[in-house]
Amino acid sequence: LDGYMGVIVSAFIMYSGIKVLKETINNIMGRAPSKELINKIESFIQGYEGVMGIHDLVVHDYGPQHCFASLHVEVDANADILESHDLIDNIERDMLIDHGIHLVIHLDPIVTDDPFVKEMKDLTKKIVSEIDRSLSIHDFRIVKGKAHKNLIFDVLMTEQCKLNEKTIQDEIIKRIKEIDMELYAVITIDRSFVSTPSKKLIK
Ligand SMILES: [Zn+2]
Ligand SMILES: [Zn+2]
Repeated sequence: LDGYMGVIVSAFIMYSGIKVLKETINNIMGRAPSKELINKIESFIQGYEGVMGIHDLVVHDYGPQHCFASLHVEVDANADILESHDLIDNIERDMLIDHGIHLVIHLDPIVTDDPFVKEMKDLTKKIVSEIDRSLSIHDFRIVKGKAHKNLIFDVLMTEQCKLNEKTIQDEIIKRIKEIDMELYAVITIDRSFVSTPSKKLIK
């Protein structure tokens, strides 16, 4: 009987230990942000004049006054750098005052007046959405080398997309090469608009 009791007691201790560990890790990693919070941040920022788009939002929500977020804001590459910086500084400050969210913004300049960049971006958008309608692109830029032109961009992949990353990557590279042998796609796959580390790590 003593043996059985010992097993039961140690099983109980192990169970409690794992529970405490899980809760601690959840607090460290942050809870997954609610859809409501994500929408609130997005619509707040889209309201500012000069913001052309946003992406790569990451939220770490540890409760009131302990909410941290980062995201990329797209601005016109021709805009004055001091003005653009002022814009994102204002958004960061307003976000803290109005919503109690500590926000850090990364600035992404978007080239709007280069016809070649625009043509390639539109073509890439078309190709990517033909592969899967739920896919979208951002951070598109072109780096011209001697023999190649690299089209560099991120592909946003949501849970709706059932293809695997390798298939998507290979297919995009192939189809872009078909336009012109000189073109090479350099792709980064974004798994989700919002990172939810606590969900991924703690099962
Ligand atoms: Zn970006
Ligand atoms: Zn600053």
